[in-house]
Amino acid sequence: MTEVVQKIAAEPKRNQAEARRVARLHYSHPGCCLCGQTVGEQIAHLDHNPANNDPDNLARLCHHHHWMYDIGLFSLSALKLQRAHWELTKGKPTNAFMKDAGRKAAVTRAAKGIGSEMALKAVATRRAHAKAAA
Ligand SMILES: [Zn+2]
Repeated sequence: MTEVVQKIAAEPKRNQAEARRVARLHYSHPGCCLCGQTVGEQIAHLDHNPANNDPDNLARLCHHHHWMYDIGLFSLSALKLQRAHWELTKGKPTNAFMKDAGRKAAVTRAAKGIGSEMALKAVATRRAHAKAAA
């Protein structure tokens, strides 16, 4: 065997049909686990080893997000977190975790006394502008 043939023979074998079957079995909700797009859905191998079809190594991604993951714009832990969230929300995008976020942040800031001087200055500025306008 030539060196090139030996190198190709030694590379891990891709079995995309098997990867799709495993992903379908373990991740019931179709669509990219980051954006929900179902058109052109791909199965990503999170360790970049196409022969590793372990369920934990697979994620459904759209072409765009697959590319972004492959060039390193998302961490492995962030993608796994999103994949779990996608299963939890049964494939429906949600921003429920943001509900009352502003009020909760205000309560936290007040409890810690963070930003109170700035808030008082902002109130004084608004009142001064309102007085000047009247
Ligand atoms: Zn996507």
